[in-house]
Formats: sequence, C-alpha cells, structure tokens
Amino acid sequence: MKCPFCRSDRTEVYNTRGTKFGTQLWRRRRCLACHEAFTTYETPDLGFLKITAEDGTQTPYSRARLYSAVVTALGGHTATPSATDALTDTIESKLLDLKIKNISANQVSSVILTTLKAFDTPAFLRYLASHADLRSKSELKRQLKSY
Ligand SMILES: [Zn+2]
Repeated sequence: MKCPFCRSDRTEVYNTRGTKFGTQLWRRRRCLACHEAFTTYETPDLGFLKITAEDGTQTPYSRARLYSAVVTALGGHTATPSATDALTDTIESKLLDLKIKNISANQVSSVILTTLKAFDTPAFLRYLASHADLRSKSELKRQLKSY
C-alpha cells in the first residue's frame, strides 16, 4: 500500500488488531521512505448480502446506510462516533449471524430495533417512529409490545 504522505510503495505493518466486534482488522503501517505512520482498516466485502423490501426490490447491504440510520436514531449531531460505530458493528454482526444472504427489510428493522432497545430507549422510539408502519394507535401498541 502506498504511503498517503509521500506516495512511496515501501511501507510495513507494525501493529495489527481486530476491532471489538471482529468486523474489522486495524493495522498501523509505517513508511520506510518518510517514516510517517498511518492506519488502515480491512473489512470483509459484504456485497453478497441483499436486503429485500416488502415490494420485492433488492438492494445490496450498505454499512454506510446502516450507519446513517443509527446516527439518525441516536439524535443526529448528538451521536458520538464511537457509540455509533459500536452500534453499527453490533447490528452488522447480528445480521451476519442470521447466516442468510437475502434478508428482508423487516428482519433488518427488527434487528435494529432489538439492538437499539437494549442500548437507548429514545433511540429505539425514534427509529420505530420513522421506520415502522404505524397507521394506527393499535399498530403502534402492537409494535411496542413486540420488542
Ligand atoms: Zn512516506
């Protein structure tokens, strides 16, 4: 990998760690030409994972989309990057633990809601309010009871 500072090809890895939830590999590299250090992250390509909406439309799983849903649920700008990352990692791990390649949008919502509920009630309610199909009060009650 090229050094981002001087563009030299001569870099070496001097530290490697898995991140907390095992979804990423963190590496510290050093440039042998200019001696600057930099970090790289290795993540599996999750492009095989497809999310199927209720109308049958399939979209590839996107960590970026999940991350921004978590940011919104946590209250937007008040969300700390570490909490957002940790929650995104947890949800992503749970989705992979399902061991299915075609996940329905409802299953994704359900995993997100279960995870958010255990973490932060306002975030759980915010996500539920913006994503669940809440056409009536009784539907809201049913959804609240199911988590
Ligand atoms: Zn360099």
